[in-house]
Amino acid sequence: MEKIRVTFWNEFRHEKKNPVAMEYYPNGIHAFVKDFVESSCDDIEVTLTALDDENYGITDELLDNTDVLIWWAHTTHKELPDELAIKIRDRVMAGGMGFIALHSSHRSKPFGFIVGTNGNLSWGRNQREIMWNMMPSHPIAEGIPNHFIIEKEELYAEPFYVPQPDELVFSGWYEDGYIFRSGLCYYRGIGKIFYFQPGHETCKSFYNPYVQRIIINAIRWASPAKVGFKVTNDCPRLRTAPKDEFDAE
Ligand code: ZN
Repeated sequence: MEKIRVTFWNEFRHEKKNPVAMEYYPNGIHAFVKDFVESSCDDIEVTLTALDDENYGITDELLDNTDVLIWWAHTTHKELPDELAIKIRDRVMAGGMGFIALHSSHRSKPFGFIVGTNGNLSWGRNQREIMWNMMPSHPIAEGIPNHFIIEKEELYAEPFYVPQPDELVFSGWYEDGYIFRSGLCYYRGIGKIFYFQPGHETCKSFYNPYVQRIIINAIRWASPAKVGFKVTNDCPRLRTAPKDEFDAE
């Protein structure tokens, strides 16, 4: 069986110095996600990479072997060179690589370059959240109830300055009364992009079985489509006329 090749790129700084993040995610958020994905799915393999790895954790060889790229970043968005974010954008749009932006990656360069946003939103204290299932028939909502509770998560509030999503799969309501579009799907070029809001480094949201299920569903959904013709990253000049096919009959 051919496995879906996931690469999880993590900023991986909080989990080395914040005591709470170190306790919840001792080997990093990326390693935690790899563990629950690989222990429950034999059709997915996860490679880990981080900002402080070679070439900011992004090499051509790695991208060549990636079907779905998951991104978690918070305080270091500016450290990633623009050219790497553009390279990732092109892999998504013309190569069909899936892209999943988790939590504070709303302001990461790759997410912004791909969907077209500064990623701005409002935020506040950690609190209870009810995650509402807005699109139960969507593949990413498979097996997810009408709603579920996340005991403690960082408040992210509307307005979220992103383009209108192609599909709004989840919305969050927080105990202070704020709302947020928490699970958004975009189609860009031949690539698929999912943004998912939970995942603050000092919260245990990645332990939540529904959050885990959503990430696994999203990996399968975002994996490259089997496009029936070759797509190149340019604007080719047309030199043939499809109508000739009629004349040949
Ligand atoms: Zn956060």
